[in-house]
Amino acid sequence: MYKIPQISFDATILSSPIEYLKGVGPLRADLLKKELQIFTFKDLLDHFPLRHIDKTKVNTIASVNQSMDYVQVAGTITEIVTLGENRSKRLVATLRDATGEMELVWFRGIQYIGKGIEVGRPYLVFGKPGYFNSTLQITHPEMENYTPEKAGGRSWLEPVYPSTEKLKIKSLGGRQIGKLTSGLVSSLTERDLPENLPESIVRHFGFPTRFEAYSRIHFPASEPEYKAAVDRLRFEELFIAQLRMGLIRLERHRYSKGVVFAQVGELFNTFYHQYLPFALTGAQKRVLKEIRQDMAHGRQMNRLLQGDVGSGKTMVALLAMLLAADNGFQSGLMAPTEILATQHYTGITGLLKDMPVNVALLTGSTKAAERKKILKGLAAGEIHLLIGTHALLEEKVAFQNLGLAIIDEQHRFGVEQRARLWKKAAIPPHILVMTATPIPRTLAMTAYGDLDYSIIDEMPPGRKPITTVHRYEYARASVMDFIRSEIDKGRQAYIIFPLIEESEKLDLENLMRGYENVKAFFPEPKFWISMVHGKQTPDVKETNMQRFVRHDTQIMVSTTVIEVGVNVPNASVMVIESAEKFGLSQLHQLRGRVGRGSEKSFCILLTGPQITNEARERLKTMCATNDGFLIAEKDLELRGPGDIEGTRQSGMLNFKLADIVRDKSWLDAAKQFAESVVVTDPSLQSAENLRLKAYLHSQKGKHAWSKIS
Ligand code: ADP
Ligand code: MG
Repeated sequence: MYKIPQISFDATILSSPIEYLKGVGPLRADLLKKELQIFTFKDLLDHFPLRHIDKTKVNTIASVNQSMDYVQVAGTITEIVTLGENRSKRLVATLRDATGEMELVWFRGIQYIGKGIEVGRPYLVFGKPGYFNSTLQITHPEMENYTPEKAGGRSWLEPVYPSTEKLKIKSLGGRQIGKLTSGLVSSLTERDLPENLPESIVRHFGFPTRFEAYSRIHFPASEPEYKAAVDRLRFEELFIAQLRMGLIRLERHRYSKGVVFAQVGELFNTFYHQYLPFALTGAQKRVLKEIRQDMAHGRQMNRLLQGDVGSGKTMVALLAMLLAADNGFQSGLMAPTEILATQHYTGITGLLKDMPVNVALLTGSTKAAERKKILKGLAAGEIHLLIGTHALLEEKVAFQNLGLAIIDEQHRFGVEQRARLWKKAAIPPHILVMTATPIPRTLAMTAYGDLDYSIIDEMPPGRKPITTVHRYEYARASVMDFIRSEIDKGRQAYIIFPLIEESEKLDLENLMRGYENVKAFFPEPKFWISMVHGKQTPDVKETNMQRFVRHDTQIMVSTTVIEVGVNVPNASVMVIESAEKFGLSQLHQLRGRVGRGSEKSFCILLTGPQITNEARERLKTMCATNDGFLIAEKDLELRGPGDIEGTRQSGMLNFKLADIVRDKSWLDAAKQFAESVVVTDPSLQSAENLRLKAYLHSQKGKHAWSKIS
């Protein structure tokens, strides 16, 4: 009979509290916890060195200069003196080798150090070189007795650990941490860090074992050995994360019960064949098929739909909602702002005007009587399609049988709000989250790997790319002239002001100044201007917006409240004021407000004369491409994954070693191997995957794997 190998990840020495490590004790333990979040032996082991120093390399004194980070010199002490009084009191030793002389200086521990150093003796000295009064010196160097054979015979790299000032004062600087780590590592055996990757993977990459990797990432014998250890641990991190998400997704597919939309019925077909105002793009068709497949099989759909601004997500949403209605279910469509909800409502009721589908709009400003009517209609199942804002989430909003909930512009909603949608039906409704903030593929598969994921990566035909330029303040007049020429051709323009100041009041003042300025260029009655900002009541906002939509006004001056979703195809110019203050994804969102009609459109990024290199890089990217995914990749590169909207809370990007931008090829490999495990052995039963099972089991509860829905 086959004997199951015993692998235990539990109750090893590594879970011991850090105070029990030799040389730590309660006081230092407190500091390690507070300053470095090191609570256990394992945490210390995971406190990786910043870099390593090759102590076998000895510099000659003549070759040392200030620009070197660290040097190591070997020489004889020729003189030791104490100089200065009080605060400038210092110990100065002169070190000489065959090529020259330098000073070694100590301000603290003078007595103690002075006693330990002998004139005439050879030392190996290590530290950061600098000049003082044009004399080369090292302050507070590390010293040890030197014999040439010793230096030559040693072939290891010394780790340098991150530490903090507070720790350094308490004798827990990088070196001391290294000593603790060294003690820990030498007390560990293979059994404390059992292999967790399947043998085939270890062999495929020629990885060191997990135990070897952990010892060598701290104390490698050579550069290649170090690199192999880092690669292995990076891969492990990414692989485990991918595996975990793959298993979560699989489990959801298997066990989550969902309502079945068995048929494509009358409503869908009639609309599709008679009222669809354009042919769907290939991408829209593909996504619709993915959605239909999800909903037909009795498991709950939990799908993220990504499509660049203007890629036509709304039509996909509408068709999915008709599918729900065909199967006797109600749908909810939730938008982040009142303007957007209203626009969806107007657009959708327009499209459905000859169809027997009841659509209602519910927002914060729906009047009490109307609201009451809507709630009644919902409970009775008479309203098929409810469009609205956060108002949809309120407890009182009860559906008769909600089957599909669609959330537009996902990043404005929190995880918790989405969860509230689930609870509005006995069997959780299908969820479709639509986002126009392109998330780089790498990020999406890491942060949302447990969700089903669709992309609309094709624009409706006939779109002309938007021409984007960067202009400085002083060219404002010519920018205004350009707007005038577009208005003369019958077009409209947006002028957007940033929300940046600490106070709303200042932002508003800034906007007002801008508005007056624009007005001076575009006087009534030839020109009319709409203004929309966050401090207006929904009524006023809506009125101003509608005036622009109806072309009663030619210019829309606004803060970023119009950022998402607003659709005015006749607008052909987008001017972004203080563009250097916006992030890339926001700039791209804003630009997406134009280029929606058949006319050529323009985006003008106005900035002051002084801009940072990073801002310049953003502007350059905007001028160079219209591709939201490319922009998202660039954004990720510039800012790092922690700052990308909507992912901060995911907790899945906090890798210790891996970096999904730099380690993209490792990520791809990890995903591929993890998927193959999920497909071939989802319950991790094969002998080769038992290690994985034991490891995942030991990690339960250690991570907050927040799903987005
Ligand atoms: P977004 O994905 O940004 O929400 P929308 O759904 O608002 O995009 O669509 C943008 C515009 O493109 C709308 O005016 C819509 O009617 C139009 N549109 C959508 N799909 C197509 C298509 N297949 N062919 C032509 N126009 C389309
Ligand atoms: Mg939209």
